Formats: sequence, C-alpha cells, structure tokens
Amino acid sequence: MTANATRAAAITAITSRKPMSVDLPLPLSKIWASDVFNLATMEDSLSKSAFKAMKNTVQTGSPLDPATADVVAAAMKEWAMAKGAKFFSHIFYPMTNITAEKHDGFILTNADGGAMTEFTGSLLIKGEPDGSSFPNGSLRMTSAARGYTAWDPTSPAYIMHTANGATLMIPSVFMSWTGETLDKKIPLLRSNAAMDKAARRVLALMGETDIAPLNSSCGAEQEYFLVDAGLANSRPDLLLAGRTLFGAPPAKGQEFDDHYFGAIPERVQVFMQDFEDKLYRLGIPAKTHHNEVAPGQFEIAPYFEAANVAADHQQLMMTLLKSTANAHGFLCLLHEKPFAGVNGSGKHVNWSVGNATQGNLLDPGSTPNDNLKFLLFCGAVIRGVHRFGPLLRAVIASAANDHRLGANEAPPAILSVYLGDQLEKLFLDIKAGKLEAAAEGGMMDLGLSQILRFERDPGDRNRTSPFAFTGNRFEFRAVGSSASVSGPLVAMNTMLADSLNWIADKLEKALPASVNQTAAVISVLKELIENHGNVVFGGDGYSAEWHRQAVEENGLKNIPTTADALPALCDPEVIALFADTGVLTPVELQSRFEVYSEQYILSIEVEAKLVVEMVKTLFYPAAMQYLSSLTATNLGLSQLGIALDDDTVRSVSAGVNQMMKAVTKLSKAMARHEFSSVNEHMQYCAYEIRPLMDAVRVEVDQLESEVADELWPVPKYRELLFIK
Ligand code: ADP
Ligand code: MG
Repeated sequence: MTANATRAAAITAITSRKPMSVDLPLPLSKIWASDVFNLATMEDSLSKSAFKAMKNTVQTGSPLDPATADVVAAAMKEWAMAKGAKFFSHIFYPMTNITAEKHDGFILTNADGGAMTEFTGSLLIKGEPDGSSFPNGSLRMTSAARGYTAWDPTSPAYIMHTANGATLMIPSVFMSWTGETLDKKIPLLRSNAAMDKAARRVLALMGETDIAPLNSSCGAEQEYFLVDAGLANSRPDLLLAGRTLFGAPPAKGQEFDDHYFGAIPERVQVFMQDFEDKLYRLGIPAKTHHNEVAPGQFEIAPYFEAANVAADHQQLMMTLLKSTANAHGFLCLLHEKPFAGVNGSGKHVNWSVGNATQGNLLDPGSTPNDNLKFLLFCGAVIRGVHRFGPLLRAVIASAANDHRLGANEAPPAILSVYLGDQLEKLFLDIKAGKLEAAAEGGMMDLGLSQILRFERDPGDRNRTSPFAFTGNRFEFRAVGSSASVSGPLVAMNTMLADSLNWIADKLEKALPASVNQTAAVISVLKELIENHGNVVFGGDGYSAEWHRQAVEENGLKNIPTTADALPALCDPEVIALFADTGVLTPVELQSRFEVYSEQYILSIEVEAKLVVEMVKTLFYPAAMQYLSSLTATNLGLSQLGIALDDDTVRSVSAGVNQMMKAVTKLSKAMARHEFSSVNEHMQYCAYEIRPLMDAVRVEVDQLESEVADELWPVPKYRELLFIK
C-alpha cells in the first residue's frame, strides 16, 4: 500500500462509517453515582454507628478507627462483588500527570481448593505496590523500592468497568516507607489543611466563633481535540508525542470562527453522550460541553466539587476521555498544542475556598461584614500571586504547555491578576487612602457603600489574563489541558495560607490599635496592596505593551519556558513557603523539581528523535520519489526537444537539501550528553534543541506544500482537523 493509499483508506473508512449505536439514554436518576460507594450507599449498607463514623471522616477528615475500617471494607466488598467486581485496586496519583493502579483479587482458596473472598480493613487501608518504578527524584535514595498506598476515605471508592471486567477502585495516597509523599494527593490534602488553619485565624480575628472546616473547591474546564483514529494512527508524532511535529497550515483554519459554539458533529455528539453517561455513573457531575475555537476541538466542564474529589474526578475524566474516544474510533488529544497555527488546549482551574458556616469566602456577598472578609481573602490571593508568581508559573510548566502560553491565544507567561473594573478600582481606592473607615457610629466612606452594591459578575471577562477573578472564584487559565489540577491547587492553597497568616499577624496588631474592625481591615489591605498591587492588571495580556510594562514597570517576571520556570521550585522563599506551611519538606520539594525537570528533558528528547526519524524514513523518501518522477519526465521531454521549466525540480531539491542539513544539525546537537547541571540541560533543550526542531519543521512544511499530494506519507492538517 502506498502512503497515499493509507490516507485514502482512512478517509474511505470514515466516509462509510455507520454511526455507532448507543443504548437509549437512561434517565439521570437511574445512573447517577450508581457505581460509587458514596455516603448514600454507605448509609444503606453500614450499621448506624459505622456510618456515623465514616460520615464524620468524610466531612471533617477526622481519623477512622480500625474496627470501623473492617466494617466498611466488608460492606464495600459485598457491594462491589454484587456489581461483578472480582478485583480491587488502590488507585494513586504519582508525580506524573497520569494515574497508577495495582489490582488484587478478593479471592482466597481454602484447604479443599474452594474459593472464598476476603477484604479486611487493613487491605482497604494499605497497599504496597513496588514504588521504585515511579519517578521520585531525590527520594529514590531514601525510599528504595518500597512505596505504600493508603486509602483516602474522603474521596469515594467506585467501580471501573472495562473490557477486562469490573474493578473496585480505591482512591489512595502514595508515599515512601519513610513517609515522604511520592504523589500529588498528599500535598493537596496538606495544602488544604494549611489553608484551613490560616483561614481560621483570620476568621476568628474577624469575630467568627462558629467556624466549620474550610475546604477548597475546584471546577476544571477541560479542552481537548478529537481526531479520527484511522488518520491519527498513521501519524507517528500523534501517537508518540501527542502532537503534530510537522504539518503545513491548511488553506482554511479557524479564521472563520465557524466551529466555536457551533453545532456539535453527530459522531462527536454520540461520543459525548456515551462519555457523560459514564461520568454520571461515577458520580462526576458533567455540566457543560461545547465546540471550542479550533476545528476538532471541544470542551467539557463538570460542576465544581471539593478540590480533593475534583482532582480525582479530573484524572478519571482524562482516562475516560481517551478510552471512550477510542471506542468511537477517535484519538483524543489532551496535548496543549497538537496543531501549530490553531488554538491549543487549556484547563481552566476555577478555585474558591469556603466552609459550611461562612460560605464561599471569595463571594463578595451582600453585607458589609461579608465584604470585609471577602476583601481580606481576595487580597490574600493578590498577595500570593505577586509573591509566588514564579511558583504558579512553575506548577503549570511542561514542554507541551510552553507551546501554548503566550502564543496569542492563551495567557502570557507573565502571572498577573485580573479583578474586573469595579474590584480593581476598590483596591486602588484603598491604596490611595480614599476608602477609609470613619470612627465608630459614623458614616462609612462612599467607597464602602459601593462594595454593598457588588454584583456577582463585576465587569467583563478578560480572556487574556492567566489568573482572573470571575465573580465568586478565581480562574487559573494558564493551566495546560493534560495537567493534573493538583499542582495548581496545591500552589494556590499554600500561597493563600501564607498570605492569610500574614494578614492574621497584621490584624492582631491593627485591631486593638484601630477605631473599629473596618479601619483595621482597611489598614492591613492598604499595606498589602501597596506592596503587591503591581500584580493586578486589567488590560490586554496579549499585547506587546503589557509584556514590556509588566517587566520594566511592574517588576513581574516573564518566564517563557519550562527550563526557566522549574528552577523556581528551588528558590529559598518557595522552599520556606512549603516548609513553613507543612505542605512539602525541602526534600519532597526538591524531588519534585528533579522529577519535573527530567520529564521536561525526556519529552523534548523523544520529540527530537521522532523529528529525525520521521524526516529520514518518511519525508525524505517521499520527496525523493517525487523528484525522481519529475526528473524522469523532464529528461524524457528534453529528449523530444521539449524544454519544461525546471523550477519545481530545483525548488524541491533545494528544499530536500535544506531539510537534511537541518536534520544533521539537530542530530549533532542531540549527541551532546554532558551537562554540568539539570538546569543547564533544560536550557539546552529549550534554547538549542527546540529551535533546531523548529528549523527542520519549516523545511518539511514547505515541502509538504510542493510534493505531490498522493506521495505525502502522513495525513495533512485539513484531514486531521476537518474530517469527522
Ligand atoms: P465559564 O467560565 O466558561 O463561564 P462556567 O460558568 O460553567 O464556565 O464555570 C466554569 C467552572 O467553574 C465550572 O466547573 C463551575 O462549576 C466552576 N465554578 C463555579 N463556581 C465555582 C466556585 N465557587 N468555586 C470553584 N469553581 C466554581
Ligand atoms: Mg471559564
């Protein structure tokens, strides 16, 4: 089969494809959380006292006694086996963006060779996969091979149905035998605890006496691409790197904006319905879906949940997106930039903090007292983003996201905060001393009555901001589509804890010294905004002017690549932040730096190897074949005395030569293996290897637009993006 035949066969297969038949949709009430061992399930299957203990653990994080764990394990096993599960697995979240699981059977045999089943509290609580195969950076020395998983009762267990049957999945943390975190869940739980502790201090100082446990919430909007699997399978780059390393822009791209919010193609609709039904069975509240900006790009967002559960659900969603797409003949691309020249994919992490007694503390509310608390929490976020902008940049850093940030479609690689006109003005007034609280009993300044009129959606949306206040939450928009939400949530919770502690320290002094509570709050906020207001920016984040102003006037950092971003994890103030809040020890933080930088280097090396291989084995042969047919024809014609213009032959020959020269340069650069430090190695990848890869791509894409279409060995952008 010639290359062209592969492409043609894929296209024929798509064209003659019968829509996949899906079962008639079942009502939500029939499927909702039907595969989840949640509190409702437990209430039916546990004794009153065991249920009460479990509920307390789930809602407040209080420890569970071993006897109750035994009772819960037994009930869980009965429930899971009734649903066809024969195996259980602790599912955990290593320092990659994917999940890991080790399956164990419930089965035991007795002396007569009969089969019994067993699932005790201790099996539920603890597992021991081989930890050595997971990236753990400098923890490798101390942790050796042993890694432990431990049940996280605050995230419900569920049944995963696959072609292999049903498995009881138990969300778990993952740690070394010395107790260091090897995963993304432990830091998230710890960051929440740190935020809770600091928030309580502030709330108590504000006069609150009844304070329920505080939790952070997360609602993540997930963008993704769907490409027909037949076409995708003949692109080695899509299969191995998750993105196209080559591809000339099609005559029509996204310039008509005709895909955004347009009618969803039927084949995709069927996929979405199937996917969302799966989510509902798992108790994941899928809420919105629509076409995104680029052709072939879509978005799904669930309703927000407690951050720990939302993070687990988000991982599960990514897994199910891929497997369901597969079943529908699609390849689902979660990569941040699968196609050059069209929009990439992000994951907007919507985040707020609150509790059952005070509600959402990032909601301005409708009374002055709520406003004060809101202003303190909002101010705390502003301070956090200003102090720890480079950390926020580091936790969203990946080789893939580097292609997207700052690419005139996604937020720039400068961390600023968008507040909206009204709120921005309010903080400016505080800074200018215009918003002052009068003495007890007096009238409040005009500014404060303005807060009373605060509406939920103050001001417009600003799509160009990496970190935007959106009415009752912040939206971290610079997060990449393939990333776990845990890293960003950990950073946000922890910086908030740090700022709230700073605020509490200040309030402790300001309250006794001020005429009233309002005056004390405003004096603290004035100091805060004087020191950190530079991070607030309401203009066009894409503009060149902002890039200049941010750095030269506001003193913010523009951090273009992962190589420049990850070293922030080694900054003394970041080490102190995590150590002081108890979220990560210096060793745990260091191990994260090592794991993430290794991942960065590896992903660029894999791509660079692929570039060389694809050129040598696919594009060079295709161009040579074209050249040989052109020259044969030209020769034949010249023998007949007909002179044909040889422009094309010359241009293609020159292109082939340039392409091979560029490949040689890249290969030579890749041969270097000695580096004095990881940082130097990362810089080399970012500023030597990557530009050389781009240089190869320019030549290949040029050839793609010259070589005969029937000879081009891989599907083109127009096929990948437009054929559904
Ligand atoms: P958009 O930002 O496109 O307008 P939505 O309004 O649907 O999208 O919200 C995006 C996400 O924000 C959803 O997952 C939603 O549940 C979540 N969200 C809404 N309120 C909060 C909140 N207080 N805290 C965290 N997430 C929230
Ligand atoms: Mg949004």
